[in-house]
Order: sequence, then C-alpha cells, then structure tokens
Amino acid sequence: MNSRSLTYLPTTVPLPIPEEELLDLVNKGKDWALMHGAAMRSKKNFSADSLNFAPFSLLPSTMTRKNFQHAVELQTIFQELMHKVAYDKEFLTRCLKNTVLVDEFTAKLWQIYETVQKEGETQPISLGLVRCDYMLQSCNAEEKETPTETNENPPCNWKLVEVNTIAAGFGWLGPASRLIQRYIMEEMNLHDRLQNLPDNNALSGLCEGMLEAWRLYANPKAFILIVVEDVSYNICDQRFHQFRIRELNPNANVMRKNLTQIYNEATLNENKELVINNQIVSVVYFRSGYEPCQYHGDNEWEARLLIERSRAIKCPNIQYHLAGCKKVQQELAKPGVLESFITDKDSIKAIKDVYVGIHGLEFDECGEHAINLALTNPEKYVLKPQREGGGNNIYGIEIKEYINKMKDSQERTAWILMERIFPPITKGYIVRPGEPVPPTISEVVSEFGMYGVIIGDSKKIISNRQVGHMLRTKTATANEGGVASGLGALDSPYLI
Ligand code: ADP
Ligand code: MG
Ligand code: MG
Repeated sequence: MNSRSLTYLPTTVPLPIPEEELLDLVNKGKDWALMHGAAMRSKKNFSADSLNFAPFSLLPSTMTRKNFQHAVELQTIFQELMHKVAYDKEFLTRCLKNTVLVDEFTAKLWQIYETVQKEGETQPISLGLVRCDYMLQSCNAEEKETPTETNENPPCNWKLVEVNTIAAGFGWLGPASRLIQRYIMEEMNLHDRLQNLPDNNALSGLCEGMLEAWRLYANPKAFILIVVEDVSYNICDQRFHQFRIRELNPNANVMRKNLTQIYNEATLNENKELVINNQIVSVVYFRSGYEPCQYHGDNEWEARLLIERSRAIKCPNIQYHLAGCKKVQQELAKPGVLESFITDKDSIKAIKDVYVGIHGLEFDECGEHAINLALTNPEKYVLKPQREGGGNNIYGIEIKEYINKMKDSQERTAWILMERIFPPITKGYIVRPGEPVPPTISEVVSEFGMYGVIIGDSKKIISNRQVGHMLRTKTATANEGGVASGLGALDSPYLI
C-alpha cells in the first residue's frame, strides 16, 4: 500500500466520461489495440496463433514538459556512466565480489566475463540499448497529511528506479500506447490537444541502433540474431523490431533463436565469427538470458559463452549485462563514486538529484544500519534481489520476514535495500482483456522509461543518443506493475 502517496496529478480530461460514450470508446480502443499489434500472447489460455490486446490506459497521463525534458536530458548522461562502468573491471569486481559468492546466477555471468577477459577481447565494440526507469516523487510528499486534488501539477522530481542494460522491452508497445490514446482522443474530438502527446520513435531508434552496429561489422550478408525465450508472450514487442529493421534496411536479415537452439546450431569459424546455419551473425540482441529459468542447464550457458567468445557485437555484452546489476547501482549511489566516472559537475549533480538512498546488506556497520532501518520502517523501503524482469522484489511487512530469515546468512549480501519512491496518484480507466466493460475509475501511478542507444569501445563512445520513451501505469495499491503480469497497463504522457 502506498501509504504516503499523498499527491494527485490532474487528469487529461474531466472524469467520469458518460457511460455510453465510455463503453463505445473502450470497445474501439480494444479493437484498435488488437488490430495494430498492441497485444500479447495470453499466459492463461496460451496459443501461439492468437493474441490478446495488452492492458492499456484509455487516456494518457499528465506529465509536465519540464519533467519530460529532464528525463530526455538525463538519458545520455546515464548512458555515458553505464558505458564507463561496463569497461571498468576493477569497479565491477568491487561491486560484485560478494554477490558472486552467494548468487549462483551472477556467479555464472561473472565466470563468462572472466573467461572472455582471459582469452582476450574478440569484439571491442558494444551496443547498448538502455532504458532508464523513473517514478516521480512529490517534492513535499513528507509534509502533507491529506491528499488534495487540483488541476495543477504539484512540483515533482524524477527518482531513478533502475537502469536496464539487457532486454529493455516496450520499444514497440511504448509508441503503440501513444497511438491508441491518440486515436481515442480523436474519437473524443480533442484534435487540438494532440500536439501534447510527444512524438515517440523508440522502435525506429532502437532498430537504427542495431543497424548501426550491423554496419560497423561491415558484412552486409551477416544476420542480426535476436535471442528469444522458449515462448515469447510479449511477441509484438519483438516481431515489430524485426519488421521495422526490414523496413529501415531491406538488406538486413534477422533471425530469432532461443539459447537451446543456439547451443545446437551455432559454431565459431576460424575468425571467431558466430555462424548459425551457415550464416554469419554480426549483432546479437538479447531479449532473453537475464533470468535463471532461461538457462535450462549447461547447454544454454555454453551458448551464452559461445556468443561472448564470438566477434559478433553484443547487445549487451557480458560486462554491460553485469553493469546493470542492482548491486552496481547501489555502489554508484555511494558518495564520491560518480566522480571517478564523470568529470562534468552538472552531470554528476543531475544524476545525484535522481538517486534515492540504496543500502547494501554486507556484514559491516552500513549493513547493520540498513537492517535496522528495514526492521524499523519496512514500508519506507523496497528489498531487491539480484534479478531482472519484475516480480522479484519484497515490500512492506514481508521485508521484515525476509530480513529476519537471512540476517545471519551470507545470502543477504546479494540484496539491496532501496528507499521506496511514492509517486503521485492520478485517476484513469484501465482496460484489461477479459474484464467487464466499461471499467470503473481507478487510482493509478506511473513509471516512466526513457530509451537510448550507446555504441563504443573501452576508449571512445561512437554514438550516444536518446531515442524514445514508454510509460507504464498500475493501480496505486500494487507494488509492481509489469504489463505482462497483468498488473500494469500501457500508457503515454500528455504534456502540460
Ligand atoms: P526489475 O529489474 O525486475 O524490473 P525493478 O528495480 O525495476 O526490477 O523493480 C521492479 C518494480 O518494482 C518497478 O517496476 C517498480 O514498480 C517497483 N519498484 C522498484 N524500486 C522501487 C522503489 N524504489 N520505489 C517504489 N517502487 C519500486
Ligand atoms: Mg530491470
Ligand atoms: Mg524494472
């Protein structure tokens, strides 16, 4: 329960919408979403041959232009930081040395990193398709006791939830959300307000990043390989990349394989090029490989190692994957650490301003202090393991149980305790497959993701740009808001 979410954001249009109009809009929106690929495969009633529309917010959520622009500006700064972190072995070692002793998954990634470092670099260039996730936090959330609803946006600043360096999804579903809501607003005769929906070219931007890496490899016949899960529920968010690459460059070929198939089919040739079915792979884009369950056994780990050993440009390469670890983000939040990566004072300040406190749970004074904080005020924190993909964090009273359980075990050193962000609430209609229509008004909160592309090697950054955004909205009382898990909904910003 977000007990401290005391601030309300204004809605895009006054609510409620009269029932008959609402029903009509919802039905049109559902069909628009389905027919334009704002959709997913159902986990409950799975069939590879059918799709459900993805849950969406009927109308966009308000965001100040200033907040939007701020996140745009932060993107290239964060990417420069992550790039430098990824190429700093000493720093990565410092961040992860305890984690690899107790977290088997991170240890396996680390082993691959050490192996390829020892064998010598085959591909100096890395491709980063990075997404920074933020939530707004009211500047005076602490002081207010009673929620107030106004038509003005209360002053809020971004706080960083995390930086994703692997498999950051919604490159298509982000722009698609804007298009659904644009259509709905047109149906409501709000044509003159459409310019408040900022352009979102995330899909093209990410695909252009892949194509830039493909060109750098300088073999027009080579393929881009998308590493996929055994079953891709979020299929639209992968196929649209493939379709867009074909549109942007008809000569660039894409193949999709899971790690088991790669183990069975891939080899390295004498130049350490990755070869699958007689085709050379120049770029590997991981949309899988970030969760333990995606590696069924040694074969899939062998496949990951083979890819890392190859000359293909990886998105991400192993050190970029490691740089995205929660433990690394904890270390970066410590005083004085940013200064060793970034020289520009304004950039350092910009990053610091969006950090919230992150505590490690090592067996030292800081760790004991963190344990105390968590046990005294669990509702003020989120306890995070070294995992990706949503649904792994611990909240509220459960934090106490977890801490008490692992207090005396080394296991605790792989977790981080992060201050909880309490985003402002807004109201909206969330449309979900299989739920009664029209929906009722819900109180919701949002998480904003900003995408960018960064390409470079250990010595220089070749490209660093922001390319688009996504907004996910969830009911205000839910802890997490994964869209695939059914809690979150597609959304997009309406600038005020
Ligand atoms: P993952 O890599 O699994 O996506 P995140 O760090 O993004 O891990 O956490 C998952 C979700 O948990 C986020 O999308 C957000 O909804 C919620 N969350 C994470 N950190 C915080 C925080 N500090 N305050 C509030 N909610 C958070
Ligand atoms: Mg993540
Ligand atoms: Mg996340």
